[in-house]
Amino acid sequence: MNIENMIHVPTVEPRENDYRGEDGLLRCGVCGEPKEAFFEGGFHLGGKDRHPAQCRCQREAQAKQEKEYREQQHRHTVFRLRQQGFQNPIMRKWTFDAAPIRTERLEQCRRYAESWEAVTSQNAGLLFWGDVGTGKSYLAACIANALIEKEVPVCMTNLSAVIDHDFEGRTEYIQKLCAYPLLILDDFGMERDTKFGLETVYQVIDGRYLSGKPLIVTTNLTPKELKHPQDTDRARVYDRVLSMTTPVLFSGPSLRHGQREENLQLLKSIFGKGEID
Ligand SMILES: [Zn+2]
Repeated sequence: MNIENMIHVPTVEPRENDYRGEDGLLRCGVCGEPKEAFFEGGFHLGGKDRHPAQCRCQREAQAKQEKEYREQQHRHTVFRLRQQGFQNPIMRKWTFDAAPIRTERLEQCRRYAESWEAVTSQNAGLLFWGDVGTGKSYLAACIANALIEKEVPVCMTNLSAVIDHDFEGRTEYIQKLCAYPLLILDDFGMERDTKFGLETVYQVIDGRYLSGKPLIVTTNLTPKELKHPQDTDRARVYDRVLSMTTPVLFSGPSLRHGQREENLQLLKSIFGKGEID
């Protein structure tokens, strides 16, 4: 027996409205394209001169299914990165598009996230400094969320959380932080002032420095305070941070203010205008 006759070539089952063309091939009743094709050069396989082929409807259905699958995978990846990326879960919702007001700073931060390829290849870190409530953390989180949307792993945390991490496994934890394509340290300079605390801070900053990957820091300290710290332990930490980042001053209104304003309006409508402020 010829081996070619042992191979099973499936036959296409006609569906309603399918028809045979002049060439004898089965054609789709919807798009008119053939659902079969002849083997090249009059070749036969498994006793057949033809094999199944995809008509336009079938190709489109397959493409749609593949697209849906990719989108689902993307949503899963983004969800996972958001879950693991933020020390503070509320920040998962801080996005450029959800910001209650548009500022020039917001647009600049959006462009920073959009320029990620260049930012990361040049290791262009940022130091967001300025008073409390000027939107530093908000916009840093927006950058994080925009990158996570592009499936870039980002970690946004603060050094107090790192210091408070169980001693067991802390070194691995710090190594993991330093391996993120982008690390954001929120509220830098607010951590505990102990020798141990400072040592941990140095471990993170130095590890990040050696990784050659970008760092974003938000802080209430001024560049002047960072340049002239009280002691040498701080000096070596601050030197590193300043060498890895470029200061950006925040002095505008808080981007979280919009939500507070909305809450205030709601509560005024419930409690009465005179009772609440
Ligand atoms: Zn078709």
